Amino acid sequence: MAGKTFIVEHLDPELGEWSALEYKCIARETAATGSSFYLTSVPHELQLPEPLKNVSELNVEHRGIEEIYADKKDRVCLLDPSAKEELSPKDGDNFDIFLFGGILGDDPPRDRTSELRKKGYQGRRLGPVQMTTDTAVRTTRIVVQDRIELENIKYVDHPTIKVDEHESIEMPFRYVLDKDGKPIFPEGMVDLIKKDSEHGIDDLL
Ligand code: SAM
Repeated sequence: MAGKTFIVEHLDPELGEWSALEYKCIARETAATGSSFYLTSVPHELQLPEPLKNVSELNVEHRGIEEIYADKKDRVCLLDPSAKEELSPKDGDNFDIFLFGGILGDDPPRDRTSELRKKGYQGRRLGPVQMTTDTAVRTTRIVVQDRIELENIKYVDHPTIKVDEHESIEMPFRYVLDKDGKPIFPEGMVDLIKKDSEHGIDDLL
């Protein structure tokens, strides 16, 4: 099967270290499965944070999704937590391009994915629980490339990260489990969360 295109449209005013670790992880994993990853709508003046420098699998694009795929709109699927229909393996035939909001997760979610929904793309949901962006891309790849139904993927909701012997942080998201039954976090993310934990998790989201 031909590789797919995965797009994160940058929508936040900044691109912080949290997003950078997620996007690096998405770029590496996506390339490893023969597909491509584009970070789109990146302002010319934006300096990429350190984790994204020299990531050969990352394609940075200053144009936005509407301009790039103006003639292929019907082949673009927006992954949308408010969509009526769940993503299914047959969507691997219906779509070539999978679009995600480049937005940090928030609790409760503020539905900023609506900025992309307004543009009129067909939407699919990845279940009822908010995922981090790298988890949403990972889950989409598993469904449309590995052709595994959403309900057959192993997840954990709201896992905790132990910061020290006294404190744990609950992550308000759904994560895919690895083969050892542990939630998959981007490389460096657990250390970043621990490092920043004194500011409180709300400042990280
Ligand atoms: N709270 C956010 C909002 O305001 O919409 C959700 C941000 S989420 C961290 C980033 C992106 O991952 C979303 O824009 C969406 O593309 C995708 N995503 C996350 N959870 C999803 C779900 N359950 N179903 C579909 N897409 C999801």
